Amino acid sequence: MVQSRAEFQNFVGNAFIDGASSYEDINPADGSVVGLVHEADERIVDEAVTAARSALNGEWGTWSIQQRAALMRRVADIVEDRFEEFVIAEIADTGKPRALAEPLDVTRAMVNFRTFADNLLSEATPAFLTQQGLNYVSRAPIGVVAVIVPWNLPLLTLTWKVAPAIACGNAVVVKPSEETPATATLFAEVMRDAGAPAGVFNVVHGFGKDSAGQYLTEHPGIDAVTFTGSTATGSHIMRTVASRVLPVSLELGGKNAALVFEDCDIERAVAGLERSVFLNTGQVCLCTERVYIHRSVFDEVTEKLVARAEALRLGDPLDPVTTTGPLISQGHRTKVEKAVALAVAEGATILTGGGRPAPIEGIEVDRGSWFAPTLWTGLDNSASTMREEIFGPVAGLVPFDTEEEAIALANDTEYGLAASVWTESVQRAHRVAPRMRVGLSWVNTWYARELRAPFGGAGRSGIGREGGSYSFDFYSTITNVSVAS
Ligand code: NAD
Repeated sequence: MVQSRAEFQNFVGNAFIDGASSYEDINPADGSVVGLVHEADERIVDEAVTAARSALNGEWGTWSIQQRAALMRRVADIVEDRFEEFVIAEIADTGKPRALAEPLDVTRAMVNFRTFADNLLSEATPAFLTQQGLNYVSRAPIGVVAVIVPWNLPLLTLTWKVAPAIACGNAVVVKPSEETPATATLFAEVMRDAGAPAGVFNVVHGFGKDSAGQYLTEHPGIDAVTFTGSTATGSHIMRTVASRVLPVSLELGGKNAALVFEDCDIERAVAGLERSVFLNTGQVCLCTERVYIHRSVFDEVTEKLVARAEALRLGDPLDPVTTTGPLISQGHRTKVEKAVALAVAEGATILTGGGRPAPIEGIEVDRGSWFAPTLWTGLDNSASTMREEIFGPVAGLVPFDTEEEAIALANDTEYGLAASVWTESVQRAHRVAPRMRVGLSWVNTWYARELRAPFGGAGRSGIGREGGSYSFDFYSTITNVSVAS
């Protein structure tokens, strides 16, 4: 269905190099082979880390912030020039619809680079003047940063981390997800063509365990790890780097709640829930999997949300009217199928979906990784499927009676990434939103992002915040310089 680049090589010191072995990159929409991925072994990972270190010790280490900001703008401009290539590559790897890849994934790559270039030039660090003297904050690059990213938003998460890392003068070794090598490889060309000195940006392809991910995090030459992915992998990476006391930034999973109050604008809430439950086929860390609805509007909200789920258009990801693509892989579909079967075993009543979708015109559903938008009722927070992240187009709907109960239900989780509160009462909004024990608490919206604001999670959803100066704090070594008066 979708064709992209045939070979995804590693990128080390501004040169593309073959891997020690290779594997196939599969298009989840139809099971076709997108290309061959060159897997990095320990030697290639070592070469990438060494190239990054050489860049820091060479010309790159002397660049001014103006030069770095200019490089970042050239990067964004080249992505813009090659916009359609990136869109096609991201669609082929993920199966996500064009209607999402264009405005979200590829646009955010440009915006990430432009925003952090702006932030770099406008940032002021604090200074403290007293009778004893002047204290000021000086930033230096932290060094070689390992950047490990997932498959759900491949280019978006890569650029979200690489842009501030480069802005702060670091050199990076990126390990994209094994499922989605394409846009990272294209992006390497962009970095090279924009004039990044050799070694500033490197890509090593492969898997986690016994592959590029493990070799990179175990490498003694890295100075920090920034990771987006599952809680289990994030925790494993922490253990790997613990003895070296390396800084980690972890953006992990969620089991995010939405609270729908009786005083909400129901049409607006239901439109918001359609996005928050089903965007990217539910494969966004911020997606809602638990919807708590005031009992007085439960039936109305449920009925309208089911109608919206059934109106989603599953289809050819390249067709501009398609709203919903497949899951990332057949392996992931099996996991989602098992989770939904477990929900049923735990007592769920499926309202819509629950399995593979009805035939889709032009699509062989079983050759791809398709799964129907799914909603259920009948489970409370004691069910494991209301506690563990499923990462698919699924949500459980639960009635509540009081505001206090709703807050308690939302916070009854070990995760703490995002929440959304739907109410027309400004008092209630300000009462409830700050009491959500999460990194991101939205009112009457979802996935609204201001890139200078802190992004990250509480509890099992992660450690640290990125965005604006929060990113600069992570990607820098901060020194307090104290000069006596
Ligand atoms: P994953 O943890 O399986 O993989 C993420 C990355 O880690 C991949 O590149 C993988 O190859 C690598 N990896 C796996 N094992 C490793 C190891 N032992 N050592 C080093 N690297 C290793 O996650 P995924 O399935 O690709 O992504 C989905 C998860 O990501 C979901 O849990 C989702 O919630 C989370 N996510 C979080 C955010 C956020 O900002 N909080 C954003 C997007 C996705």
